[in-house]
Amino acid sequence: ATPTALLVGTGRGAQLGILIKGPEALEQTRRVDTVVLDKTGTVTTGHMALAAVRTADGQDPAELLRFAAAVESASEHPIAAAIVAAASAPLPESAASGLSGSSAIPASGKSGAGADGALTVGDFSSFAGFGVRGDVAGRTVLAGRPALFEREGWTVPAEVTAAVDEQEAAGRTAIVAGWDGEARGVLAVADTVKPTSRDAVAGLRRLGLTPILLTGDNERVARAVAAEVGIDEVIAGVLPAGKVAVIERLQQSGKVVAMAGDGVNDAAALAQADLGLAMGTGADVAIEASDLTLVRGDLTVAVDAIRLARRTLRIIK
Ligand code: ADP
Ligand code: MG
Repeated sequence: ATPTALLVGTGRGAQLGILIKGPEALEQTRRVDTVVLDKTGTVTTGHMALAAVRTADGQDPAELLRFAAAVESASEHPIAAAIVAAASAPLPESAASGLSGSSAIPASGKSGAGADGALTVGDFSSFAGFGVRGDVAGRTVLAGRPALFEREGWTVPAEVTAAVDEQEAAGRTAIVAGWDGEARGVLAVADTVKPTSRDAVAGLRRLGLTPILLTGDNERVARAVAAEVGIDEVIAGVLPAGKVAVIERLQQSGKVVAMAGDGVNDAAALAQADLGLAMGTGADVAIEASDLTLVRGDLTVAVDAIRLARRTLRIIK
């Protein structure tokens, strides 16, 4: 690329809300045939909300939420934010139910809590792509994907497994929570698709690109989101470290891969991709690892970016 043509491209890019890192980024857009889209925060808003609470026999939903929120208060994951926000608001009667019989929620919603209802967490650990653990009011609390409980060797009652199934079938992310070696219930969180994602996917297809949805979340949630935005191919249940391997595998099969992501978890995959697209609203490390930054933080900008870059290259040639 000649410096002048590149300048034109990047200047127009800045107007459209696209920051282009260098000439190689422009070159790569011409060759790309596959676009891998991270689900949370890229295709969806990443602003999760608590949709349901399900408890095992004899467990109190308000207590489950309070202890899970205490341990999640030390995490920066969007799931953690949803659980913490729900715990500080009164739990609507409709959101909570025990699996056998009704578990009434105390009128206060926070019986046994301190003045402001908040419990503190000690000895906190975070397992990327799995969940969190910490000590809360003398209990060791675990919250995360069902496989985390398996991995840690905690007991998961059959009602909890059933609740995970029920919530995942509804397209929600099921977070299992419990303490002292036993799962006590499920906190189901739901995210919303960005209003622009469906148009963006259609735009990528018009450019001849194949979209693939990539996520650490479960297959059923991924399928529900994919269907909503018009994506056929889904790669789900991928741990943060596994995202790079997914990109490599696609490259080895002859694909030229663009990857759009926003999170700390996505940085390595963005760097591995032939073209890394970072959502401008995302983490700084993701932006650093990318070739193009989409300042507006919505995927239609990715379509604009690829179109602009191709046009700029045509002018140069
Ligand atoms: P994504 O690929 O959608 O950005 P992550 O890799 O960040 O997802 O997380 C994958 C899964 O790990 C989540 O769907 C959730 O089940 C679990 N998880 C991650 N962080 C937390 C947390 N702070 N609390 C509970 N569960 C978590
Ligand atoms: Mg993410």
